[in-house]
Amino acid sequence: MSDLAYKRTNVYEKADESTMKAIFDYAEGYRKFIDGAKTEREACAFVEKAAKKQGYKPFAFGKKLKPGDKVYYNNRGKNIYLIRVGSGNIGEEGIRIVAAHIDSPRVDLKQVPLYESDGVALAKTHYYGGIRKYQWAAIPLALHGAVVRADGSVVEVAIGEDEADPVFYISDLLPHLAAKQNAKPLGEGLAGEDLNIWLGNIPYTVAEEEKDRTVKENLLHILHEKYGICEEDFLSAELSLVPAFKARDIGFDRGLMAAYGHDDRVCAYPACTALFDENPDKTVMVVLADKEEIGSEGSTGMQSAVFTDLIDALASSFGVSSAQVRAKSRCLSADVNAGYDPNFKDVCEPLNSTYLSCGAGITKFTGARGKSGSNDASAEFMGEIRRMFAAGGVIWQTGELGKVDAGGGGTVAKFIANMNIDTVDIGVPVISMHSPYEVISKADLYELYLAVRAFFK
Ligand code: MN
Ligand code: MN
Repeated sequence: MSDLAYKRTNVYEKADESTMKAIFDYAEGYRKFIDGAKTEREACAFVEKAAKKQGYKPFAFGKKLKPGDKVYYNNRGKNIYLIRVGSGNIGEEGIRIVAAHIDSPRVDLKQVPLYESDGVALAKTHYYGGIRKYQWAAIPLALHGAVVRADGSVVEVAIGEDEADPVFYISDLLPHLAAKQNAKPLGEGLAGEDLNIWLGNIPYTVAEEEKDRTVKENLLHILHEKYGICEEDFLSAELSLVPAFKARDIGFDRGLMAAYGHDDRVCAYPACTALFDENPDKTVMVVLADKEEIGSEGSTGMQSAVFTDLIDALASSFGVSSAQVRAKSRCLSADVNAGYDPNFKDVCEPLNSTYLSCGAGITKFTGARGKSGSNDASAEFMGEIRRMFAAGGVIWQTGELGKVDAGGGGTVAKFIANMNIDTVDIGVPVISMHSPYEVISKADLYELYLAVRAFFK
């Protein structure tokens, strides 16, 4: 093929020995993050700790910012902003922003979850984000979150990650009795109200009265003794069931990695490490948003005013208007895309798909049908990104989320672009997105890290 033709590059094919080592070493740092931060709360705490180590100080509204400042803003423990203030004129240069999200699809407990049925203690759930319900049965689940007790004290919960911990479970039918269920469409195999969690099976035998010798009573005693909580405390709790799996390499060559919640912590990690490692003398902001999986709503989602409030704080510190700063700012909306899957070719368009191990994936527009609900990045901004990545030696590709009219999806990009900020989607191709065990390529993770560094330079 001549130099005039465009061709994707396979990162591993091009990598020399030292690049291979860099890719695999970088993935080990990510493994610690993805295994140690399975919810937005845990990711937020992880990043706050890392930022403090890098000299970042907490920011409070009302404080003035000055060149050289490194601050973070922890929004309610679920959404965190890292800001590095450069020495340039913020009104002329704007801010380089990278936004990723740290919430992932999962199964949440309802506020009145506990009940007993036929000698089994169970919990009612309400799923969070787009899950394929049947995938969440018959796998080990860990319980994560926080319980606020009547006196206001908070109990942090993470049960099922340690090898010695118990795990939790959603049951499914045995094939011998599944004839009726098998005849249903796949999406109806398990309904939302079928996702009930197995919590226990031993009755409270020490009870004086027979009516108290129940499995639920025993469970309430265990919860009280171990965690100091009573049933009413669930009213003010956020508890989530997430897969209890640890990240593992996939395949003989170990080029791929499976984990729960790559979407979108696989982009949050490179955003933070690129900021720490590049430490640019530019005003840059890393946003790790919550609630992306349910529409970026609420005080901790990307649509929260906190985002523009922080830009206002930066602008006013330098005596320029927020409008001036936003007009000159640039943003990478860092989120995953669907990787081309040879098992499901029929939903992918081969020319415009992101392929595993072919580098960071740029998505000019997302949305559904006729690009509905999309931030469609301009050709000019795409050109700017191309030049940045060429200068940084970044291997990247481009792709849409599946064939036209096959489905679709969105990211936080449009909410940022709506603020008059040039924004484009970039991320890592994922296989089995939103399943309990998603797969990415270590090479793409590394290239996204290089891409963010090039953007910050
Ligand atoms: Mn995502
Ligand atoms: Mn998602």
